[in-house]
Amino acid sequence: MSRFMGARYSMFDAYTPGEQPQDRRYIKLNTNESPYPPSPKVRQALNADEVEALRLYPDPECGALRASMAAQLGLDENQLLCGNGSDELLSFAFMAWGSRGAAFADVTYGLYRVLADLHQVKVTNVPLRDGFALDDRDYLGLNRLIVIANPNAPTGMALKPRQLAYIAEQNPDGVVLVDEAYVDFGAESCLPLIGRYDNLCVVQTYSKSRSLAGARLGFAAGQAELIRDLKKIKNAINPYNVSRLTQRAGIAAMEDEDYYLLNARAIMQARDNTARALQAMGFEVLPSRANFLFARHAGIGGAALYMALKKRGVLVRHFGAERIKDYIRISVGSQEQMTAFLDAVREIMGGIKA
Ligand SMILES: *Cc1c(COP(=O)(O)O)cnc(C)c1O
Repeated sequence: MSRFMGARYSMFDAYTPGEQPQDRRYIKLNTNESPYPPSPKVRQALNADEVEALRLYPDPECGALRASMAAQLGLDENQLLCGNGSDELLSFAFMAWGSRGAAFADVTYGLYRVLADLHQVKVTNVPLRDGFALDDRDYLGLNRLIVIANPNAPTGMALKPRQLAYIAEQNPDGVVLVDEAYVDFGAESCLPLIGRYDNLCVVQTYSKSRSLAGARLGFAAGQAELIRDLKKIKNAINPYNVSRLTQRAGIAAMEDEDYYLLNARAIMQARDNTARALQAMGFEVLPSRANFLFARHAGIGGAALYMALKKRGVLVRHFGAERIKDYIRISVGSQEQMTAFLDAVREIMGGIKA
């Protein structure tokens, strides 16, 4: 830290992203990316003409992209705002709606805490119940910004939309932000509830199920007034927040829903196969509706397993927080990648028993 940095920023811990190693090739199961490339339509859309047009600023409203999203999702265009990844929209949400504080689970996406600290939002920590279950009765009458990842990260466990509707009803003076980064892998979206609750905001990303993590694209959906709040902040921070190439890629991706449905189905299949194989080896695996598994084994700690896998060329994610330090989070890749992962685990666990 230089002596020029203000106290407000030198005091907080930044988010630590999962490793993106540039040295050797790993079987990369650590940041929940898709093992599949974007749709061929995306490749076609990013052509020489688009490169030519890069001298021009992009549409700050993402008009064409929002129009295709609105048509696909059955929403109004003014119920949508696009972001440079959903992380950016989460940051806007803490700025817009955090003045009364924010509440979220003790075990959830680590960025929420970082954003709260960054924007000086007071945090109410709501511990998950035993078995990492989120209980909607723990969120009654809080009336502040409530942030819930559904499915949750890194557990993969999901709530029903009616439970989130209940939380929205019970907090009329707070915004309920549902982060649906993983919803396409078998959970139910809250998007159909937006018309009914003026305090419900749903955020989704193109990074996971739509194979565009490198393009940085997400969207927030909510009633027009909520979206106006976020847009005001967007226009103050970065009016041209979504690049031309990303807007084109997003439109093309919207046009190939079937391709992504098939990929999501393959990933769910590989997830369930992998979970069964881990259970057969004595692992405890949480019930996942996401593109990752959260698992532990009584015979080896999370950090040790992470290291042993890394030595064998397989990257997974380990979190040091007390309540989850025995677990590893495994992103679900292709069936071939999962077979290689399981072979490595078998080798490691074999060595332990011997
Ligand atoms: C991956 C992830 C995001 C971030 O998505 P980007 O659109 O890539 O910024 C947001 N929330 C959760 C819970 C995630 O896991």
